[in-house]
Amino acid sequence: MGVVRDLFIGLSENEILNDASKKMGLRFGAQKVVGGTGVDDTLVRFADLNNQGMSITFDNLGEFISDRKEAEKEKNNIIKMIKAVNEKDLTVHASVKLSQIGLNIDETFCYENIKEILDAAKEANMFVNLDMENYLSKGPSLTILDKLLEEYDNVGTVIQAYFYDAKKDVRKYKDIRTRLVKGAYKEPATIAYQSKADIDQSYFEIIKTHLVEGNGFTSIATHDHNIIEKTIRFIETMGISKDEFEFQMLYGFRKDYQQDLVARGYNMCVYVPYGTDWYAYFMRRLAERPQNLNLVVKSFTSN
Ligand code: FAD
Repeated sequence: MGVVRDLFIGLSENEILNDASKKMGLRFGAQKVVGGTGVDDTLVRFADLNNQGMSITFDNLGEFISDRKEAEKEKNNIIKMIKAVNEKDLTVHASVKLSQIGLNIDETFCYENIKEILDAAKEANMFVNLDMENYLSKGPSLTILDKLLEEYDNVGTVIQAYFYDAKKDVRKYKDIRTRLVKGAYKEPATIAYQSKADIDQSYFEIIKTHLVEGNGFTSIATHDHNIIEKTIRFIETMGISKDEFEFQMLYGFRKDYQQDLVARGYNMCVYVPYGTDWYAYFMRRLAERPQNLNLVVKSFTSN
């Protein structure tokens, strides 16, 4: 299993394949998990999901940008999508990776960029979630978030359960809208739990803490039915209202389960990535869960 994971991680980092895929359009089944390559085709996906009773958080694909001009271009792309969404009657908010808008170049530059995005979002009455990346970027990301929170009420963050300090973080951000995840990056045992059992336990703990101790809206972002059903039993026991939280899943994954949760009256938000930079995202999803390869196989047998 580790070999397959490493193979797809390697493919996700291959520069030649990344560059080639930008000119190709969505291929190999990526169209099942990526909303579109541009604004117009992605807006169609948004409308379709809204019609199914789901809200959306969008992600302009591309990360770890090391060039100022590139970072500015990505910031403008995000603002373009915010404005396009605002012109339609859609329930959509934004997810932003700070490494895409300059975190690895200069923190002040990144701060100015995210402020511009938040101003555009505020005008559109839109919330912006700062995605969380690897541990190295966690400190600088939270410093930027804390500064933004002095000025904005339309920004939130992500807490990754695999970090030993997740519980401390969840208490700090209990009163703001927060997405809770298990954590997607490879981190060492000095800072993060390694086993699925430990990560799952920490994850359920932070879900309970955010739901019970704070006033912030809780986004529970997982495809794990065991955690979801356990959370539902917990909120029923505690009498927590369905308005206080939502479930989030990635676009194209567990679609039946997404629809089932909507039918049971739960808020379901779908994370929709879009853009020409789809290749690395797609390879990482295959690395995470090799069963997702069935998307590739199906892409050769259907439209
Ligand atoms: P896993 O532990 O991967 O799976 C648990 C079990 O669920 C599996 O054993 C299987 O039984 C079932 N299952 C899982 N996937 C499927 C499937 N496709 N079909 C059928 N059964 C399945 N990580 C970050 O580090 N930073 C972020 O900002 C971030 N944002 C995210 C936003 C969203 C909306 C989501 C859904 C995830 C995000 N993640 C983020 C990724 C997250 O940290 C996990 O790496 C990822 O969600 C995989 O873990 P899981 O909780 O889905 O469950």
